[in-house]
Amino acid sequence: MRIILLGAPGSGKGTVAEALRSAYGLPKVSTGDLLREAVRDKTPLGLVAASQMGKGGLVDDDTVLALLRERLARDDCRGGYVLDGFPRNVAQADSLDAAGLPGPEIVIDLRVSDEVVLERLSHRRICPNCEAIYHLVTKPPKTPGVCDVCGGALVQRNDDKPDVIRERLRTHYAKTEPLVARYAARGRFHRVDGNGPAAAVIREVRRILDAEPALAAEAGK
Ligand code: AMP
Repeated sequence: MRIILLGAPGSGKGTVAEALRSAYGLPKVSTGDLLREAVRDKTPLGLVAASQMGKGGLVDDDTVLALLRERLARDDCRGGYVLDGFPRNVAQADSLDAAGLPGPEIVIDLRVSDEVVLERLSHRRICPNCEAIYHLVTKPPKTPGVCDVCGGALVQRNDDKPDVIRERLRTHYAKTEPLVARYAARGRFHRVDGNGPAAAVIREVRRILDAEPALAAEAGK
């Protein structure tokens, strides 16, 4: 089963992907995480990506596709995966379709208001070591500034500053939102209200997925 999570920045894709990883054992494949890793490691692709990410725009398709292809070729993706942050535009969705990947594909579209996005992202802190995600008000770490999972020092993403958040939202509406109509026209598309607390959103996504026979069979193995 291949799951695609659509939704604005801050809609909860990363949190939901992590919950699905732990519930169904499907790896979370986040192009944002892959890019941040490449930036941190100062790889040639990472050096190209850094300036584009800092401004709130999209990284060019060739760079993202190169990272994604390498990630999907790993063994853990053979039985499926949860895609977080890809596709982000029509060309990327075309590449995914052209890849002719096996197994059913299910698309979850997380809908959130811009106010919720701004509130969530400005309070978000992440652990650069293990990618754990915190919210300073609704999900603070036990010790301020320290990751509960691995003890790493929490940071605010450079692109979670208000000006960049607004630009990311503009990019989302211009480039990514048009994909919703494309996927909605296919079967296996589900719209989920992502404005509520994470636990409620995750419960709803799992209710939808538990009704998918292919996934239920995988989880029962
Ligand atoms: P995210 O962690 O998904 O919010 O992504 C952070 C940033 O990485 C985005 O604002 C983009 O600059 C870049 N990015 C992530 N995924 C993609 C993608 N599929 N295509 C282009 N750029 C991406």
